[in-house]
Amino acid sequence: MKIKKNILVTSIIWFLLISASLSWNYHNIRLEQKEIALQTARSFFQQIVITRTWNARHGGLYAPVSQTTQPKPYLTSPRRDIAVADGFSLTMINPAFMTRQISEIARQKKGIQFHITSLRPLRPNNSPSPREKAALENFEKNIAEVGHFIKEEGRARFFYMAPLYTEKSCLPCHAKQGYTEGDIRGGISVTLPFIRPLPVTSLLWGHLAIGLAGLMGIVFAGLRLNRAYQIIKRQVVFDALTGIPNRRSFSESILREFKRSRRTKAPLSLILCDIDNFKEFNDTYGHISGDLCLQKVALAIDKTLQSPGDFCARYGGEEFVIILVGTPLAGAMHVAERIRKNIVDLAIPHARSLPLQLITISLGVATSEDTALISHEDLIRLADKALYLAKDKGKNQIEAFPEIEYAKE
Ligand code: GH3
Ligand code: MG
Ligand code: MG
Repeated sequence: MKIKKNILVTSIIWFLLISASLSWNYHNIRLEQKEIALQTARSFFQQIVITRTWNARHGGLYAPVSQTTQPKPYLTSPRRDIAVADGFSLTMINPAFMTRQISEIARQKKGIQFHITSLRPLRPNNSPSPREKAALENFEKNIAEVGHFIKEEGRARFFYMAPLYTEKSCLPCHAKQGYTEGDIRGGISVTLPFIRPLPVTSLLWGHLAIGLAGLMGIVFAGLRLNRAYQIIKRQVVFDALTGIPNRRSFSESILREFKRSRRTKAPLSLILCDIDNFKEFNDTYGHISGDLCLQKVALAIDKTLQSPGDFCARYGGEEFVIILVGTPLAGAMHVAERIRKNIVDLAIPHARSLPLQLITISLGVATSEDTALISHEDLIRLADKALYLAKDKGKNQIEAFPEIEYAKE
């Protein structure tokens, strides 16, 4: 029972360990995923900033006017548009315009979104989204960058944003807004769409497989241990040769019954049996036959006992002891006689045991009518004395030793 409880407790601990490992692994993978997304977004951001710096250092670049590249009205440079030849004209592309065009290509090709924005935008289209506004306000509080997972249109994305600092090359256009070199002028947000889904399924299956394998191991080992424990427990209580309770069991039992009869004031009887001339039996028929004989005698004694409270144990080599609960001397003598007769009836030949030339036993009976008078050790001593008396008187007989005799001594 205790082992089964231990199996349950160990299984629960194992389950908790597996759950802890699962959540720890999940947490780590998520951290790693965030780190990869952050690095990727940061690289995109840096590349855009470098390209913008390159543009700004040239004071703007020129590109052919086309449907998608129209002259920008907010660019006030007198050299915004240049007619080159044959009606072919170029228009100025400043860093902001360039960023928008690059971001458009990135969005179309890879689904990556860049957005240049500011708390004080030159163009209304560059106004920040609530998320970008929150990030821009964080930059004002000296937070270097912002990066976290978001959910957009039911899909996981990674949102990154870092500030844009005013460089010397930006001042020709932005000085009029009051910016000086080093000021945060806004920021660029990068939204990555390709967040790889976490390998939750494989993580779950892996842990489930390890968990189940471990659980099977625990249950298997636990049950084997339980079986071994049951065997050991049996060995502690029962005699290996005869299968009846051993002396240790008897010692516990007599103590328990003695206390009980002291409480209930019921009589308690004890019978000690000893096989007659057993040494000679061994010498004549061999030790193995001796063992077989002991088994038969034990079984016969055990079978003779009928009351559920009766208890029989192997006391020593060829000695057996019987506890008869609530039985007075007359009753105990009765049981002893039945045992003696049943052993004779076994008819186990013993050529050197005269006169019957059969296996016989001698029995010593002791009864305590009042357990307050003597101890349980005294009761055993009385039964032992009675047994020796029976041996003295010629064996294959019963002698009794009532406690009153003992009290007289
Ligand atoms: P008595 O009639 O006076 O009791 O004589 P006895 O020979 O029976 O008694 P004794 O004490 O001289 O010898 C007991 C013998 O029991 C000695 C021992 O070899 C034998 N014996 C004790 N335990 C075992 C056992 O487990 N198996 C076998 N085969 N013999 C045992
Ligand atoms: Mg003996
Ligand atoms: Mg003997």
